[in-house]
This record gives sequence, C-alpha cells and structure tokens, in this order.
Amino acid sequence: MHPTPPAHVLVLGGTTEARRLAEALGPHPGLRVTSSLAGRVAAPRLPPGAVRIGGFGGAAGLAAWLREHAVDAVIDATHPFAEKISSNAARAAATTHVPLLALRRPGWVPGEGDDWREVASLAEAARALPAAGRRVFLTTGRLGLATFAPVDDAFFLVRTVDAPQPPCPPRMELLLDRGPFTLEGERALLARHRIDVLLTKDSGGAATAPKLTAAREAGIPVIVVRRPPAPGGVPVAATVEAAAAWAQSFSAPASG
Ligand code: NAP
Repeated sequence: MHPTPPAHVLVLGGTTEARRLAEALGPHPGLRVTSSLAGRVAAPRLPPGAVRIGGFGGAAGLAAWLREHAVDAVIDATHPFAEKISSNAARAAATTHVPLLALRRPGWVPGEGDDWREVASLAEAARALPAAGRRVFLTTGRLGLATFAPVDDAFFLVRTVDAPQPPCPPRMELLLDRGPFTLEGERALLARHRIDVLLTKDSGGAATAPKLTAAREAGIPVIVVRRPPAPGGVPVAATVEAAAAWAQSFSAPASG
C-alpha cells in the first residue's frame, strides 16, 4: 500500500503573515507548502520551505499551475492592496474547484485624538495636497509614486523598500527602509523632517502602525487610502492561526 502523499498548499505571499503561515505549516507532516512571491522586491525576506517567484500569467495561468502541481488548497495571504492577484486567485479557484481562503489582517481603526482623512485612491490623496499639509511623509509604496509627480507645491519624504522609478515628485527625499518600525524612530523622523501630514494606505498590522501613533502625538493629520474591496464569496481569516487551522484540515492522514 502506498502512503498518502501530503496535501499541497499554495500560499500566495508577499506579506509578514504569509511568511508566518509558511513557518507555522512547514513542520506539519501531512502538508507540503509552496509559497509564491511576485518578485517585485529585489531582496525579499523568503519564507521557509519551497518558494516560487514571478507571476503565473493571469487567472488562467494560475489555474493551470494549480492543476499541474496538484494543489489541494490555496491561501491568498497577499497584501490587502494587491487587488489583481486576489481577484485572479478567486477566479482560478472557482474554475479548478480548489478551496481558497483569504488571510487578511484587519484594517487600522482611528483612536482618540486621531485626525484621519479617508480617501478612496492615491489620486484622491494627491488632490488633498497641499491643503492637508505641505511636508508629507509618504508611505504608500514606490509603485504609485507617479500619481504624486505633478504635486510641486509640497515636499515629500518617501519611504520605500526599493528605489522608485521616475516620474517622482520634484521636491522629494527618499528613505530606503522596511519595517518593522519603532515609535521612537517614527517620532524622530516626523520631527527631523518637520512633517505636517502623513499619507498611508490602510495596510493594517503592527509592523508599520507606530507612524500612526507618532502622527497622533504630533497632532498632524493622516490621509488614509481605504482598502479596495476583496473578491466576493471567498472566506476570510483574520489571523495566521485561523488560516493555519484551515490548511491543516486538508492534511493527509498519517500512514501507518
Ligand atoms: P497585484 O497588482 O495584485 O498583482 C499584479 C500581478 O503580479 C498579478 O497579476 C500576478 O501576475 C503577480 N503577483 C502578485 N502577487 C503575486 C504572488 N504572491 N505570487 C505570484 N505572482 C504574484 O499585486 P501588487 O500590488 O503589485 O503586489 C505584488 C506583491 O507585493 C504581492 O504579492 C503583495 O502581497 C506584495 N505587497 C503589495 C503591497 C501593495 O501595497 N500593493 C504592499 C506590500 C506587499 P500574474 O497575473 O502574471 O500571475
């Protein structure tokens, strides 16, 4: 009799949670985990275990990959703003009938003393300047930076993991860094650059939240880009533990 092969779980990654999920599932004998990264970051922090890097070629390419690699379950643990891959995952799962779960960290919630201005897009955020502030701490990532290129009447402190490509805002200082960040560090940055407005996506999570506390303490407004809607009909887990429990339900029984 052949032993039952471990169930193959594909984790769509690019987030801290995806890495933690791969760590949590790795030692499980009934599972075989492959993590997938888009390949955007030059030197990504790799999860343990098998990793594949690069796009699949749309929803059809992902569906083909799921079939070819006999995937038993998919966890979409991508960033809440990575809209396209999440929609591709939903379509590929529907056509292949492979179970799909989305792992989404909860969004941030304003607290007492916060002055948050929610906007629906980066373009709307750009239009809020310079009325909301003239010295902007911009943490929305390098890919959307071109949206702010026409804003020539504000200074931007731009923090990204890899350097952005032009076009960029004309008055800009670049800070290459990646979280987690500390409250002390964020306080010092706001003070050193005399920042009077913070611009962020509602990414959620603890690693990049200290900037929000620093902004509250400094009494400056925060322009928060709301999350895009998640694909309908896909069950959502809010924690790595819940997603790991879901994956383990596909685990192959121990042979004996
Ligand atoms: P996106 O717009 O949703 O995806 C664009 C394309 O990139 C997808 O169609 C897919 O190409 C490929 N792709 C994205 N994530 C992938 C993955 N995990 N594995 C394989 N291919 C992937 O995504 P994005 O906003 O550019 O983000 C790219 C990656 O960076 C994501 O994995 C995300 O988790 C991470 N990230 C994004 C943000 C953000 O603010 N957007 C922040 C932090 C980290 P094909 O169609 O060819 O399959």
